[in-house]
Amino acid sequence: MQFSYIQPTSIEEVFKLGSAAPLYAGGTDLIGLMKDDIIKTDKVINIKKLKGLDKIEDKGNKGIEIGPLVKIADLIENETIQEKCPLLVQTAKEIASPQLRNMGTVGGNICQRPRCWYYRGDFDCIRKGGDTCYAVGGENKYHCIIGGGPCFIVHPSDLAVALLALDAKIEITSENGQKTVPVNDFFILPEDDETKENILEPGEIVTKIILPEQAKGFKTTYIKFKERSSWDFAVVSVAAVLKTDGNMIKNGKLAFGGVAPHPWMEAEINQKLTGLNTDEASVDAFTSSLFHNAEPMEKNEYKVILARNLVKRIIDNLA
Ligand SMILES: Cc1cc2nc3c(=O)[nH]c(=O)nc-3n(C[C@H](O)[C@H](O)[C@H](O)COP(=O)(O)OP(=O)(O)OC[C@H]3O[C@@H](n4cnc5c(N)ncnc54)[C@H](O)[C@@H]3O)c2cc1C
Ligand code: SF4
Repeated sequence: MQFSYIQPTSIEEVFKLGSAAPLYAGGTDLIGLMKDDIIKTDKVINIKKLKGLDKIEDKGNKGIEIGPLVKIADLIENETIQEKCPLLVQTAKEIASPQLRNMGTVGGNICQRPRCWYYRGDFDCIRKGGDTCYAVGGENKYHCIIGGGPCFIVHPSDLAVALLALDAKIEITSENGQKTVPVNDFFILPEDDETKENILEPGEIVTKIILPEQAKGFKTTYIKFKERSSWDFAVVSVAAVLKTDGNMIKNGKLAFGGVAPHPWMEAEINQKLTGLNTDEASVDAFTSSLFHNAEPMEKNEYKVILARNLVKRIIDNLA
């Protein structure tokens, strides 16, 4: 594939290009998609030289601002993030391999495309504009158990799950100005648009990820079940932010990866966490109620049990 490679140095320059060409940050996902002919383009906009988008800034009680071009490896090494948001460090360490973390950026991680093998393969499925989802009636072991239809992907980003549990916001900039949306509103379900995973329109760029100041006294963790012990995408993952008092969970949030087309959080689950006694019977009753509304596919019912067991493990470890 022949394409021109444009390297603007300011965001204004990107807008002047007036182009909906794909943005290239670390390229670890984009290049694969282009090589596999999933993205066909005659132009790529390298955003790596855009000034000011590779910084992490501590804004005191206004939280922490993370530039989308911050590399995943630099997020892990950053002292502010280590001190104020260990959940993000723990999650980032779970992503891929050191080489990919050195290249891949935070913005690219949350905007990466799904890993469904039909989508990545030579199948003209619904997400590519076709009219068939090959996972239905096909190999759907790794697909979603909730929120699917007409496409049944799971969102592949680990960071997105932690950012959801942390109540982060995403700043989006376009020629027409800026808007900031909660992570929950950034990602969309296939029923809203089965061809994309988030609200970004052509010409819009993620320019900041904003972490609110974290309340004191919460324990956090990220647990990721993967099939291989080396690098791999999550089969199911859970990010937890919990406040405990003796043998009671006073308050908390659970966000899930690997279960839905976007990082998943349910108000009902978090309400049930409030006041939950951490004795075995109460925790068992709580975990067995999780994903009672799931609609697993033929080969992935195991994800319901897996999600429940991961939550049990988290509560046992943190409480
Ligand atoms: C072998 C392998 C294993 C992996 N394992 C994991 C894993 O375990 N967990 C996990 O979470 N991820 C995993 N990944 C995904 C990896 O983390 C992403 O490829 C990487 O984070 C993407 O970052 P990038 O900067 O290279 O993005 P790019 O490839 O440059 O871009 C990815 C997408 O994001 C868009 N984009 C990038 N920046 C912006 C922006 N600022 N605004 C708007 N759009 C933007 C691009 O246009 C493109 O569509 C894996 C990838 C590979 C290849
Ligand atoms: S799950 Fe989505 S991406 Fe995968 S084959 Fe079905 S429509 Fe395509």
